[in-house]
Amino acid sequence: MVIVLKPNAPGQKIEELVYEIENKGLTVERVVGSDYTILGLVGDTSSIDIDRIRINDIVHNVMRIQEPFKRVNRFFHPESSLVNVEGVELGGNRIGVIAGPCSVESERQIIEIATRVKAAGACFLRGGAFKPRSSPYSFQGLGYEGLEMLRLAKRETGLPIVSEILSESMVDRFARDVDIIQVGARNMQNFMLLKELGKIRKPILLKRGLSATIEEWLMSAEYIMSEGNQNIILCERGIRTFERYTRNTLDISAVPAVKRMSHLPVVVDPSHATGMGWMVPPMARAAVAGGADGIMVEVHNDPANALSDGSQSITPGEFSDLMISLGIIAGAIGRSI
Ligand code: PEP
Ligand code: MN
Repeated sequence: MVIVLKPNAPGQKIEELVYEIENKGLTVERVVGSDYTILGLVGDTSSIDIDRIRINDIVHNVMRIQEPFKRVNRFFHPESSLVNVEGVELGGNRIGVIAGPCSVESERQIIEIATRVKAAGACFLRGGAFKPRSSPYSFQGLGYEGLEMLRLAKRETGLPIVSEILSESMVDRFARDVDIIQVGARNMQNFMLLKELGKIRKPILLKRGLSATIEEWLMSAEYIMSEGNQNIILCERGIRTFERYTRNTLDISAVPAVKRMSHLPVVVDPSHATGMGWMVPPMARAAVAGGADGIMVEVHNDPANALSDGSQSITPGEFSDLMISLGIIAGAIGRSI
């Protein structure tokens, strides 16, 4: 339930109303916008007498939220949320571009790619240090050594770093060393991990699960937010359908859907969505045209010899060309890159 207060409602009266509601065992979240104040009620609202609240003279409107996700719901927070990562904002007018290899492979590799994607205009560097591979015999990532290499690349280029976390036991280290902690598609419903990530304040990039509905995805974001971390970026990375031509099916329509349902920023990953490098530029352009707040692209200096996901990686030169066309599309819809 959401209570929209009248402008200039006196503080004392707001406190009385909050006290009355909290006495019924509910939690009240206050959202103060530029010209409104909203009280978001979380919990079992069946004991709330909606008519009694409506006649309170500081109340403008009361709405019941039908959806099971509350804190991530746009009714709770009508303005789009901005996630600030080391001074770079995601969710505002500027489209954020995250680029880098699927896996960190060596210090030289990550620094070279970081330097080149930065020169082309990327604002974040990605690189997996712990890889959730389908086969236990495939390259599993360099682990914490990989994280150290990412930190070196950050020191060289100034690009904030994005890397995937695999388990709760890694939270302290990732909270210290990584700027955006990625939760991969396979962990979208690892609720214990989500709760631990809710207790920190580092931005979380929450990828959509392989077969997750939009509602399930938003409920996973709700898990993180229910513990207090508001810094969540959603990432559409394709879902599993009957179509086998592409690795997954990129659900571009999820972007406007999520932007309508939630206030959180949405990023699109055309690399994992398609599985083919040649398809990444057109799908990245479609994502920006469709309203994505950012894109995440796998870039490798030697795709043919990459230790993971080479076939869907583009080269730094292709990435640079892509950035030029993304700038044109962003400009056409009143945004920048
Ligand atoms: C990745 O970003 O490297 C990755 C493993 O992605 P996903 O979780 O979307 O498969
Ligand atoms: Mn990958």
